[in-house]
Amino acid sequence: MSSTTSNSQKVNLLKSMDFFRLLDSKTIESLAHECEEIVLDPYEILFNEGEQGDAMFVILSGELAVERQDAVIAKRVKGDHVGEMALIESGPRVATVKALSKTNLLKLSKRQFYSYFASNREALMEILKTISERSREDLAALDRSMKKLQAEKKVTSRLQDLLNNTSNEIYTLDPITLHFEHMNSQALKNLEYQSAEIAQLKATDIIGEIDPSELKGWINLLQSNKKDEIEFNAVHRRKDGSFYPVKTQLKITYSESSPIIVGISQDVSELREIEDKYNQLTFYDPLTGLPNRTLIIDELSAAVLKANKEDKKISVLLVDLQNFKTISNSLGHMMGDLLSLAVARRLETESPPNSIVGRGRDNEFITILPAPKNQSDSEEAARSLLDSFKIPFSINGQDIFVNLAIGISSFPSNGQSAETLIEQAETAAKHIAREGENVYCHYKPDMPFILKNKLLLEGDLRKGLERDEFELHYQPKLALETQAITGFEALVRWNHPERGVISPLDFIPIAEQSDIIVSIGEWVLETACRQMNAWLKKDLPIKNIAVNLSGRQFKQEDLVSNIKKIISDSGIHPEFLELEITETILMANLDTVTVKLRQLSEMGVKLSLDDFGTGYSSLRYLNSFPLNNIKIDQTFVKDISTEANATIAKAIVSLAKSFRLKTIAEGVESENQKAIMQSIGCDFIQGYLLGKPIPAKDVPQTLSSS
Ligand code: C2E
Ligand code: CA
Ligand code: CA
Repeated sequence: MSSTTSNSQKVNLLKSMDFFRLLDSKTIESLAHECEEIVLDPYEILFNEGEQGDAMFVILSGELAVERQDAVIAKRVKGDHVGEMALIESGPRVATVKALSKTNLLKLSKRQFYSYFASNREALMEILKTISERSREDLAALDRSMKKLQAEKKVTSRLQDLLNNTSNEIYTLDPITLHFEHMNSQALKNLEYQSAEIAQLKATDIIGEIDPSELKGWINLLQSNKKDEIEFNAVHRRKDGSFYPVKTQLKITYSESSPIIVGISQDVSELREIEDKYNQLTFYDPLTGLPNRTLIIDELSAAVLKANKEDKKISVLLVDLQNFKTISNSLGHMMGDLLSLAVARRLETESPPNSIVGRGRDNEFITILPAPKNQSDSEEAARSLLDSFKIPFSINGQDIFVNLAIGISSFPSNGQSAETLIEQAETAAKHIAREGENVYCHYKPDMPFILKNKLLLEGDLRKGLERDEFELHYQPKLALETQAITGFEALVRWNHPERGVISPLDFIPIAEQSDIIVSIGEWVLETACRQMNAWLKKDLPIKNIAVNLSGRQFKQEDLVSNIKKIISDSGIHPEFLELEITETILMANLDTVTVKLRQLSEMGVKLSLDDFGTGYSSLRYLNSFPLNNIKIDQTFVKDISTEANATIAKAIVSLAKSFRLKTIAEGVESENQKAIMQSIGCDFIQGYLLGKPIPAKDVPQTLSSS
């Protein structure tokens, strides 16, 4: 029998294995050829628990046992793999693996593994999934050994059993001098003393972490019959000075009426280790190593208790990575994981000193700020986190920007319990979430209601489109030079079946938070263009129809071609369509917007800058966009009689003239306002003076009566 496996056997086996078969043949062949083959004799050990390792093994033939604490927890046969945890976690091996029979293995180092799978993300994902499932199996095994050890602990509570249990240290002490009188062999073994040496030893020489006076006090309690038994956690000092953790029980007994203290101590190092590992697995996020939500709730509960006693405050910052889903969907989950890790590290370094950073649900992180002095302290912390995220993450050579929404809740002003505080911070974060922006806000009691309302509306919006509940109203614009109505602005209305007419101010911002706005926007454009065509066919003297565009629509790659198609389907010439865009949209998407606006303008579509004066009012930019009109915002028109507003309106008009742009005053409600706008040289007015937005059917009537 040859001791090594032939290349074709290896290839065939790998091709039949769960995830290797996802690799192409060439890769499998070079893998089989290049990877080292290892042959184990029966009972030979592949690796030991606690050993460092950075390779996984594929079983070509034979059988392996996976052991933990000398108990076999699993067997692996031909076609299985072992040691794969080393691929994601470069820590010590969590189990011992040994051959049960002669076994041939293919060894893949971490480096080799990633280079073979680099080009096949699907395979890599499958492997990572398998590995995480294995770690869950391991967790179950740990759970079982914990239970076993805990059961043993119950046994220790019964003195009688303990005396027969050689795994415990049993000794007797003189209650006055605290000198040892007897020690069982287990105690001698653990403490590394000879029996002849113990007469010199006092309890205080070996028991650490316990104050000698406290020990004396306990013994007094036993002697005075105030207590039957004392139980405590401590450490024992070996002869060489090293320590190990113990759980100890002290009892009193009488030998010929003189009292003797009996001590039973259990070495709990193993239990502690398992507890640590168990805690690590159940209380920490495996990816980032941060405390998970469960542990954070524990920590926060403890902090609340303490703050309550000391009359201090606590703030909880819930940090939501708003665009994480988008990033991880487009760049892949591996990149998503790497990004989560980087985000975790940045949050740790950028959170104020003494704060606790942990992992929340999905794309959330939680920072607990102990003892902020006031509201502005927690705001300051939120702002500085937001600032630190202005620097992109560089992952595999790619710059990635992460947008945060931070919700803040505070003890005692908001919630009293850890869960409530976290939920409130979560609600606040959801309340302000707006993809593409970095925002923070404090929790307010009406937020859950608003949020629920928002969620309901969001669902209704989708249905609304299907059920044709939207309607356009048209508001006239008047040319001051000719005193004739020349165009209309299309303004959307929603006839909600239960709530009646809902203002666009209430539903557009909600629609903008998802893709619904794109569908609504398309519907508005189609309807307005078709309406314009109908009016033109009737020979109505209307020169243009204005339609509002929202920022999210501008993010669409195919915005321009969509608009082009809608216009040509409607049968109108592009010159009749005017698009209204706010400054905010321009500024937020400077690079992409410029190209799109130019294409629209070249097509013949007219462009207006809406709500001018309320945003950046950055005049420098006016030149770089192919605009036709500026709409002066209502706020400047409303109190036009005040000098300041008149000056602003006047400045906007003369500025527009210098750029050869026309001006439209919005919200003109009185003859006086109209007269002033006319006197400063404004070109058009729009507002309740001419009329409120009206349904299409009323338009001919309005035109003829003007
Ligand atoms: P906007 O583009 O500034 O539209 C003008 C708003 O001012 C309209 O409110 C209009 O009814 C109101 N208005 C007109 N004249 C007067 C007046 O003399 N006095 C007062 N107080 N108000 C006047 P509306 O229809 O409620 O629309 C509010 C906002 O909703 C619009 O502001 C626009 O930003 C948005 N919106 C409306 N329709 C659409 C749409 O189809 N798509 C998008 N993306 N946004 C829209
Ligand atoms: Ca508008
Ligand atoms: Ca406006």
